[in-house]
Amino acid sequence: MVSIEKNNMFGNISLKELMDATYVASSNFQVRAFYEAKDEILKTGKYSEQEFFDILDAMIDAETERKIVLERLQGKNPLFLSEIASEITEFPPENVIRDVIYLMAQGYVEEHVEVKTKMITKKIKGEEKQVEVKEYFYRYQTKELPNDFMENYFEPVSIVFDAGACCQCGWCSAICPVNAIMVDADNLEIDVDSCMKCGLCFSVCPRSFSIDHANEAIKKLDKELKWSDKIGAYFNTYSGSTKKEEIIKVRQDGGVVTTIAEYLLSKKLVDAVIAVQHSKELWKPEPVIIDDVKDLYKTGGTKYANSPSLTIIDQCKKYEKIAFVGVPCMMKALEKGTLYPSGLPFFKNIKYRIGLFCMESFPYDQIINLAKEQFDKNIDELTKMNIGGGKFIINLKSGEQMDVPLKEVQKYARDNCHFCEDLTSDYADISVGSIGSQDGWSSVITRSKDADKLYNDIVKAGLIESKSLKDVKPGQFLVEKIGGIKRKKCKSINLKENQDGH
Ligand SMILES: Cc1cc2nc3c(=O)[nH]c(=O)nc-3n(C[C@H](O)[C@H](O)[C@H](O)COP(=O)(O)OP(=O)(O)OC[C@H]3O[C@@H](n4cnc5c(N)ncnc54)[C@H](O)[C@@H]3O)c2cc1C
Ligand code: SF4
Ligand code: SF4
Ligand code: SF4
Repeated sequence: MVSIEKNNMFGNISLKELMDATYVASSNFQVRAFYEAKDEILKTGKYSEQEFFDILDAMIDAETERKIVLERLQGKNPLFLSEIASEITEFPPENVIRDVIYLMAQGYVEEHVEVKTKMITKKIKGEEKQVEVKEYFYRYQTKELPNDFMENYFEPVSIVFDAGACCQCGWCSAICPVNAIMVDADNLEIDVDSCMKCGLCFSVCPRSFSIDHANEAIKKLDKELKWSDKIGAYFNTYSGSTKKEEIIKVRQDGGVVTTIAEYLLSKKLVDAVIAVQHSKELWKPEPVIIDDVKDLYKTGGTKYANSPSLTIIDQCKKYEKIAFVGVPCMMKALEKGTLYPSGLPFFKNIKYRIGLFCMESFPYDQIINLAKEQFDKNIDELTKMNIGGGKFIINLKSGEQMDVPLKEVQKYARDNCHFCEDLTSDYADISVGSIGSQDGWSSVITRSKDADKLYNDIVKAGLIESKSLKDVKPGQFLVEKIGGIKRKKCKSINLKENQDGH
């Protein structure tokens, strides 16, 4: 997991420069809007006064650092993020990289894209062929700014929803300091009278401006990680299956997710796990906070309708250590909150991110239609839904199993999933999915040394049977292949005019 170092001391910066930068940072619209709304924020009761000032401090620190990075960038030729990070040495390289991307969103920096083609040898239907592939190179430079330049103002996230790009993760609603955002599985509404235009929601939204290039540059700094353009950075890959009988009864694939969650809770590595259970309406997911192992088994199995699970994170303040289970877009939302810290008290408590693979999810009413139109079944007749071998498969209470080709069900999927390039939860600590492994097994990607140790501790404790994903068929090859297809199919997001840098 990437952790960005906080620069409380700004140790290498002269006092004068620091004071100048802090002065500019304090006049930033986001900082001012937040500060000026202090009374309204405290009135909602979401944050205590101490927490309010912690958030404000974190915002000013981050903005001060960015203004110093901007100063250092002036007059330089276009550079790769890694080059910028090695030239600006006053801050940790991770910070510099994330700052350049943010400065681009603020309108100070532009991205130059260079496309090169090269020939590679590829096996197509058993035959080796030469194919042309494109390579993209991204360099960054400060923009020539007009005298009347005004820093981009971050709109509230209704701009993301109105562009059809919101993935309904719910993160903005959890972080909004005045509770102005309401997100459910299908909708997002902002109470414009309460919104104090702080733009915090925009800066942490996974669908506002992209952090993918920053992520690649940051992950490549860690020489212990391997990099794949298709599945992101990883430490190791496995195929695992739970050995716990109670979990085998409720699992979707290998039961790895529930086994990891159970281990974390029972070893007191976390106080609570945020996962998803059936709501009163069967197959309609409901996010839940689980702090007792026996309640965990209710969460086993995949509900293919989307769940705005991040909406409930702000209810976890009382827990010091949380694990969060969710789909890739939610992992990215959490990472964005890490890269652009707003000092949110509940956010600091998220210690483990368990990400699922996800090709698409469905609106709940479309799951009902899918069952009716494709299988002539009512939703409450289904005991399991699954995607595997290019098919959408259902199990029925009668014991019968039915399937249709996956392409037949794609029309029921959510439109905004077409903006999603991530199959394997690139931003998780541990990613788990079915692609690549045999029935009853899950493919597992550990994305840091610590995450790998955790997984192997669970294996050593005798709770999961595990093999290398490279030793199973179809294995990592298929995960990378489908991951690459998802990246290629992904549509780009166009938000309205006055947002630059996405
Ligand atoms: C919407 C969706 C689409 C998916 N698509 C693919 C795919 O295309 N290819 C693939 O290989 N894998 C996909 N998966 C992942 C796969 O279905 C399994 O979740 C994964 O293999 C883990 O299996 P397991 O037996 O280890 O999990 P289990 O031990 O059964 O645990 C399942 C976990 O998933 C959580 N969960 C269930 N539904 C949701 C939901 N809607 N949102 C968030 N969390 C949820 C539960 O809280 C539980 O913690 C998808 C998952 C979801 C939720
Ligand atoms: S944070 Fe999530 S729910 Fe909010 S606008 Fe962005 S994508 Fe939608
Ligand atoms: S809706 Fe967004 S911009 Fe408005 S107050 Fe909430 S976080 Fe700030
Ligand atoms: S496909 Fe992407 S956007 Fe859609 S639910 Fe899965 S992770 Fe979220």
